[in-house]
Amino acid sequence: MVVPYKHEPFTDFTVKENKKAFEEALKLVKEELGKDHDLLINGERVSTEDKIVSINPANKEQVVGRVSKATKEHAERAIQAADEAFEGWRKWSARSRAELLFRAAAIVRRRKHEFSAYLVYEAGKPWKEADADTAEAIDFMEYYARQMIELGEGKAIESRPGEQNRYVYTPSGVALVIPPWNFAFAIMAGTAVAPLVTGNTVLLKPASATPVVAAKFVEVLEEAGLPKGVLNFVPGSGAEVGDYLVDHPKTSIITFTGSREVGTRIYERAAKVQPGQQHLKRVIVEMGGKDTIVVDKDADLELAAQAIVVSAFGFSGQKCSAGSRAVILKEVYDQVRDRVVELTNELTLGETTGPDVYMGPVIDQASFDKIMSYIEIGKEEGRLVAGGEGDDSKGYFIKPTVFADLAPKSRMQQEEIFGPVVCLTKADNFDEAIEIANNTEYGLTGAVITNNRAHIEQAKMDFHVGNLYFNRNCTGAIVGYHPFGGFKMSGTDSKAGGPDYLGLHMQAKTVSEMF
Ligand code: GLU
Repeated sequence: MVVPYKHEPFTDFTVKENKKAFEEALKLVKEELGKDHDLLINGERVSTEDKIVSINPANKEQVVGRVSKATKEHAERAIQAADEAFEGWRKWSARSRAELLFRAAAIVRRRKHEFSAYLVYEAGKPWKEADADTAEAIDFMEYYARQMIELGEGKAIESRPGEQNRYVYTPSGVALVIPPWNFAFAIMAGTAVAPLVTGNTVLLKPASATPVVAAKFVEVLEEAGLPKGVLNFVPGSGAEVGDYLVDHPKTSIITFTGSREVGTRIYERAAKVQPGQQHLKRVIVEMGGKDTIVVDKDADLELAAQAIVVSAFGFSGQKCSAGSRAVILKEVYDQVRDRVVELTNELTLGETTGPDVYMGPVIDQASFDKIMSYIEIGKEEGRLVAGGEGDDSKGYFIKPTVFADLAPKSRMQQEEIFGPVVCLTKADNFDEAIEIANNTEYGLTGAVITNNRAHIEQAKMDFHVGNLYFNRNCTGAIVGYHPFGGFKMSGTDSKAGGPDYLGLHMQAKTVSEMF
């Protein structure tokens, strides 16, 4: 028997020993920065001349690592290896594959702060956010492993006299995994281990901004005992390696988390049946969000302001779940706005190697430029009431920014900014607030702050998002507790960390015998 799943606890950094342990991990990892990391193809390390240079977004001069970059030829070799390895791996028992994940989770748990320290350097995450990212990676392994043990038995179906029917799950083939940089450990690990534990083989193409933490995780899976060819590590450009593997006739599953633009492109390309392809590809895409916090007039207004600030500025707003808009009923609008501004102005911004920094940088120059250009649009469309300044001289720092009085259909209230910017809009009544909350093309997360039971019931029916929260923030879904995924243009609603997720990576097979 396996002990029941429980999510990995977060580290309390107010405890002196924890703070010290984390500082030591940061020191240790600092000494490892700048190293080279290879591709992994069929169990062999391959080093290339051309490298992805990963830097610390809080300190551009600091190289976190230099990661080999795959070409089409490498990608082809990797997919052939994955295809061959599939024959052996698919026959491993569900339990053996699950046990491999338990072992990998144990290895990561022992080196938890080391992984979080990599996230601090490579993604610019504050300690708390890095710690939560690592905890979530552990959770995905623990949760999916248990679920696979259960699914390994198949599901009960009926049999008539003289007949024996079984309903079992079988893997699909080669999975291409393209994770994002914002949960550089959790989503990368979760989207890689789900196809693995279900018996598929994997090509992992990490985000170019955060390939080092992915390379470290690949080492863990090898140490945990993954046979050669089952997981291949192929960092590279989307245009060269990404498209090639998406189009490849041997690719069975594609799992992508990232922008709407890239996600829809993958979805479209994957639909085309290529010469020699004998199956339809399955695509899991998780894309953007323009997530809303609705504040009712009968509500705990302090809670509302806190929820808006936490949802908007955690990891500098670089979560697809980020609460980038708030719709507040007119009776309480001024009060909530003023408190949001106050709380925002108290937030600390800086290099995340220090313990008490609330917000670090944004991920890179392109993000910095994009967010700053949205701030200019915001000044025209609304009223800047906090922040609004950026400084990219050392790292990519943007102050937490609040705009007030935005029209519901303004660009600031429609387009995903993916940065530390929140926009406030006034609504006349609750019906209108929900209507505004639904008026974007996205449908990922949302929160309603209210003490009105009838409004809670109404929102449950009418607020169209994959993750709906009441009287709390709209970020921070926990594996096994808040299965995560969105409606509309937010993606295929795959619900990572939920009871249906592994099924997306398998084919059900009915086996019927007469005797
Ligand atoms: N699962 C994360 C959350 O609930 C967001 C994931 C993402 O940004 O892709 O905050």
